[in-house]
Amino acid sequence: MKYVDEFRQSKVLTRQLTELRQSVTQRWVIMDVCGGQTHAFLRYGLEGALDDVLELIHGPGCPVCVTPAETIGDAMELTLNHHVTLASFGDMLRVPGATGSLLQARARGADVRIVYSPMDAVQLAVRNPAREVVFFGVGFETTAPATALALLQARQLGLTNFSVLDHHVRVEPAMRAILQLPNCRVQGFLAAGHVCTVTGFAHYEELVRGFQVPIVVTGFEPVDLLSGLSECVRLLEQKTPALENRYSRSARPTGNARAQQLLDEVFQVATIPWRGFGRIAEGGLRLRAEFQSFDARVRFSLESAVSDHDGECQSGLVLSGQIKPPQCPLFGNACTPDQPRGAPMVSSEGACAAYFRYAQTVEASSE
Ligand code: SF4
Repeated sequence: MKYVDEFRQSKVLTRQLTELRQSVTQRWVIMDVCGGQTHAFLRYGLEGALDDVLELIHGPGCPVCVTPAETIGDAMELTLNHHVTLASFGDMLRVPGATGSLLQARARGADVRIVYSPMDAVQLAVRNPAREVVFFGVGFETTAPATALALLQARQLGLTNFSVLDHHVRVEPAMRAILQLPNCRVQGFLAAGHVCTVTGFAHYEELVRGFQVPIVVTGFEPVDLLSGLSECVRLLEQKTPALENRYSRSARPTGNARAQQLLDEVFQVATIPWRGFGRIAEGGLRLRAEFQSFDARVRFSLESAVSDHDGECQSGLVLSGQIKPPQCPLFGNACTPDQPRGAPMVSSEGACAAYFRYAQTVEASSE
């Protein structure tokens, strides 16, 4: 398949791995920022194959994982107390909040539906004019434009029974927050290529200059990942922190102007809470005042109760790269994908789920 097969060729991968291993003089600590990259590193056995020469750690690049318990609490309140039809992506249903998960709410009779795009939620509202339909919209800058489009469509259709509980987050402020942690160990970043396709990546220059950390825009196939890693290692070895793009088939410095225009029209930058991080300055998007009538928080007078419901779950440490999932005492025994104790074990992009699923790959590759 074009654009896939050529990025998975074993001959190319073997050569890349050999060259990369030869170029390393110390065990650099490099963080990928995207859950898709985390899963690919583990799925293809790359982390295990490099573990003796590089330490790969994984950042907060899973939107379901970083959605805080209080936002899940808001969603629960909407379904259980305001009796709305709540439309959400599937992974969100299993994430535990302070009063349970949306899946449990559904078992108690709440009307919670799985949708595959925000437009499906708009269609639900069109087909059910007597029902209040709320779309639970989470995700990075990659999914926020689709939520923006849905809102514009709802406004054009004159819908009065549709609103959005939004928790869209921005990647760059989270990278900054990680670099500002007193015990930050990150020496280089692989930036998420798909996010850069929307936002561009020129704005990362400030992080590179301010923190003297190399950032390499990287894709998701194994050849992409090793290409990004090699470039990051080259910059670290030469002590020349810089911003480089190894995903040029998709990402440009200024990104996708149309998608950015959509985001600007509907959202404004806001300081919002992240699971495991607390509030991150400019870490997310909230609806502009012009779209207040579509804002579920306003329409249903939600007052998010601040919650630190993570309990024994160490998702904050996992999401900021301070520990790897197997270092959590609950990993693989009290916490599994069937019985998740925290969001990173639920989500298809969560680091704990990736380690659980591909643990044998890691062990086999590192032997
Ligand atoms: S293994 Fe489970 S309890 Fe531990 S950090 Fe991951 S999700 Fe949380």
